[in-house]
Amino acid sequence: MSDSLLAALRDLLGPKRVLTGEALRERYVHIWRMTEGLRAQALVLPQNTQEVAAIVRLCHQRGQSIAIHGGLTNLVGSTDTRPEQIVLSTERLNRIEEVDEQSRSITVQSGVILSEVQAAARERELLFPLNFGAKGSARIGGILSTNAGGLRVFRFGMTRQLVLGLEAVLPDGTIVNSLKKIIKDNSGYDLKQLFIGSEGTLGIITRAVLKLVEMPRSRNSAVIGMQDYQQATGLLKFLDRNLAGTLSAYELIWPATYRAMTSPPAIPKPPLPYDYAYYVLVDSLGSHPEADRDRLLELLLEAQERGLLAEAVPALSEADLDWFWRIREDVRVVADRSPYDQHFDVSLPISDIGAYVAQRRPELARLEGVEGVYAFGHVADGNVHFIIGKTRADDGLRLRINELVYAPLRELGGSVSAEHGIGTHKKAYLHLSRSPAEIALMRLLKNSLAPRGILNPGLIL
Ligand SMILES: Cc1cc2nc3c(=O)[nH]c(=O)nc-3n(C[C@H](O)[C@H](O)[C@H](O)COP(=O)(O)OP(=O)(O)OC[C@H]3O[C@@H](n4cnc5c(N)ncnc54)[C@H](O)[C@@H]3O)c2cc1C
Repeated sequence: MSDSLLAALRDLLGPKRVLTGEALRERYVHIWRMTEGLRAQALVLPQNTQEVAAIVRLCHQRGQSIAIHGGLTNLVGSTDTRPEQIVLSTERLNRIEEVDEQSRSITVQSGVILSEVQAAARERELLFPLNFGAKGSARIGGILSTNAGGLRVFRFGMTRQLVLGLEAVLPDGTIVNSLKKIIKDNSGYDLKQLFIGSEGTLGIITRAVLKLVEMPRSRNSAVIGMQDYQQATGLLKFLDRNLAGTLSAYELIWPATYRAMTSPPAIPKPPLPYDYAYYVLVDSLGSHPEADRDRLLELLLEAQERGLLAEAVPALSEADLDWFWRIREDVRVVADRSPYDQHFDVSLPISDIGAYVAQRRPELARLEGVEGVYAFGHVADGNVHFIIGKTRADDGLRLRINELVYAPLRELGGSVSAEHGIGTHKKAYLHLSRSPAEIALMRLLKNSLAPRGILNPGLIL
């Protein structure tokens, strides 16, 4: 980075919002790697859209590459930063601008943390339905850029479905404002969707209008044990058909993962014994607290009589709800069981998931250097996660594991990324999910919007 650029950034933001040298040692590239220190030319902390645009313009003129940092919770290496880059952190873009109860929308800057959006909505008896384990750190810009999914996609959709409007800064510094609160807008291309899921390669998201729904008045959950995958898919259809649209989450956990999530050092205790081949966590959000609870209990009993489950434990209190969902949300305890870990997030037809995991698990477990294969996932969305615990970090093992997990996906019509994105980790496997024509179109888009490639270079393509 030239001295003139550094001086221009300091003129723009003041010295306290341009960090260099020693000040970068306390910064990091991921919440799970906080002790490594950040290696970059500088880290800049804009507070509004105009400042973001001015920074990008300065960098565009000089061909200076920018790494965009949100909450640093992504699982695909997309905030790994190179020493010659400038980091633009969105943490000071942290204002909630408006909660509109009539339009059921919330307007935020892109550095607002997900749990803060959820809390602001809750204060008005509204719900921002997006929810996942990293909600206390992930920021709206990062969430939109990865089109995150999570625990309630089955009912409310991916992030993409929850965005009404968006503002972004293009790689040359142009501000594109599409911050509308309206639900329907077919006046030409839906431009906001270009920035959702494109991992910061086409622009920096600065503000967004997010869709809220009425706060459900009842929440009911249960942990369910069963012995075969047909029961898991059968129960999903049975509950969905009979819960009148209130089924909101249906999470499947394989037995080794359930044990790792509910035995020390994990804090939660197991609600069900370690006897089953599959564990399902269901959640229903409705409007009649007592009737909804009774209805779920009734359906679980009926499902048991029909042979769709072996045993179920319903949550009987708020404490039970916290207990059950903490088991599923705290995936870090699984990763922490081994010195090294590798994460996967694949999509495939729901009907193929049981056989796919049954075949992949032993093959992965047999590899020398693998000490744990943990499968779990948003099975109602056709999405399985694997965390592979490893004793060593060599590249040969990493590639062999990738090969085993990804190889069947093309034939099954699956995807190497259901919700975490491509980042740097999955670039080499994009062709397994996308055709040559699709990849060529992505390149065309990227070359037209970001010909100099200064934003998040090296991601996706
Ligand atoms: C414990 C845990 C559980 C998780 N569970 C789920 C889950 O269930 N479902 C799911 O989908 N994901 C999950 N994730 C990963 C999820 O993708 C990220 O948590 C989140 O979407 C990224 O938000 P972030 O603010 O941390 O972004 P970062 O990690 O900081 O960045 C992610 C990407 O977005 C870019 N970016 C950041 N801000 C902007 C911006 N303003 N404009 C343009 N680009 C930007 C970055 O450059 C990077 O490419 C989980 C992660 C963890 C650690």
